[in-house]
Amino acid sequence: MSGTAFRVAVVGSGPSGAYVAQELSEQAGLDAVVDVYERLPVPFGLVRYGVAPDHQRIKSIVGSLAEIFAHPRVRFLGNVRVGTDITFDELRQRYDAVVVACGASADRHLSIPGEDLPGVASATDFVAWYSGHPDAAVDRFALTAETAVIIGVGNVALDVARMLCRTPDELRRTDVPQHVVDVLAASTVREILVVGRRGPAHAKFSSKELGELRELSGTEVLADPDDLADDQAAAGSTQESPSTRRMLATLRGYAAGTPTGAHRRTVRFAFFRTPVAFVGEDSARGLRVIRRGPGQAEADEVLPAQFFVRSVGYRGLALPGLPFQPDTGTVPHAEGRVMDGTGELAGVYAAGWIKRGPSGVIGTNKQDAVATVAAITQDRARTTKPPRRGYEDPLPLLRERGVDVVEWSAWQRIDAAEEIAGRPLGRGRVKLHERGRMLAVASAQN
Ligand code: NAP
Repeated sequence: MSGTAFRVAVVGSGPSGAYVAQELSEQAGLDAVVDVYERLPVPFGLVRYGVAPDHQRIKSIVGSLAEIFAHPRVRFLGNVRVGTDITFDELRQRYDAVVVACGASADRHLSIPGEDLPGVASATDFVAWYSGHPDAAVDRFALTAETAVIIGVGNVALDVARMLCRTPDELRRTDVPQHVVDVLAASTVREILVVGRRGPAHAKFSSKELGELRELSGTEVLADPDDLADDQAAAGSTQESPSTRRMLATLRGYAAGTPTGAHRRTVRFAFFRTPVAFVGEDSARGLRVIRRGPGQAEADEVLPAQFFVRSVGYRGLALPGLPFQPDTGTVPHAEGRVMDGTGELAGVYAAGWIKRGPSGVIGTNKQDAVATVAAITQDRARTTKPPRRGYEDPLPLLRERGVDVVEWSAWQRIDAAEEIAGRPLGRGRVKLHERGRMLAVASAQN
């Protein structure tokens, strides 16, 4: 590594941050050295805390992300909050470029009456809890409801529905903390209603994920036949894509089913229902919707339940010192170059969900990272700025400030401890979920 290496700080160690680090470290001639900052003591962002625990095949991507962080030109700096432990300006002073890839960690709201009643939760909260996120309280969910309503028809809604249906044995094969297995295993939820405001053709979930529900043991999956009776209305338009056609075929299969009541759980889809209010005094007892079904008069309905999960999308949060568009929850940018009110913010870039909003699958972040790194390389090639003299490593500064930085070898100790924690329980791995415990393990000497 030369003394004049191109120093880049990447904020966020989820898939988009990792792919940016990979692209940068592999660019011939760029001589890039990358520090990846992560606010949690552990890497992988949404792969660790967003991908559903029962989707182990998708989760296995951590293997290739780990190779990126273990690369000699890449350094992982966990447990560092950019904006608090080190300011954004301090990063800009120390690095030739800063790439913001901190994702979209907050949830979107419905903004309807009763949304704050007990019994209403966001999918973001529920997913964080079952994924063992250190910010999620262990006792956040009790699951004593009989009926759950999930609002929104995207892939996250299906993740939540599946997790509510998994058997204790299936849960034990995942890496979720033991308290999550215990609460889900004791859950009294029998009926899960997944509600879309538009018709089936406009559902956001992928047909593969929708079809997967059929394989859930002890679960019957049904759809409201009225929503699918009128082909034209269900399809939404005459321009159906092959994936929409597959999705509609699967939903028609669910609608053709006859409820048997013989299963542990039922997942039921209902479309054309726009939520207008949660009803209830001390806690939510129903969701009032306006039903605008095909060929039917508009009607008011109350869907009775005791647990409600709004799964209507994620939202990015502002990073102190960085321009932000609150309406979209993203940073303003032009081809990955972050813009402030006056033009490009020199040397500052964005990638992933904080750049384009919460859409696409993990692989989408790869193309996105390639595009952002292309902008960085172009800017590097045409810069007239003389090479920066010297380099001030921020690590001593962070330590001076009392930040307990978790480097890659320290994360590997957490990783090993999670495997060891699984053994007495007969489980492959059990995630550590308390920040203090993670830090204690990270700093323990072998
Ligand atoms: P999403 O795909 O954007 O779905 C959000 C759902 O919420 C839509 O059905 C939307 O309906 C509905 N919605 C929004 N505002 C609403 C409102 N006010 N009232 C009622 N419904 C409302 O978001 P997501 O499910 O959170 O997923 C985020 C991203 O992660 C997606 O790209 C997804 O594919 C990806 N993901 C992928 C996987 C996987 O590949 N296995 C798993 C999880 C997540 P409208 O369409 O009518 O707005």
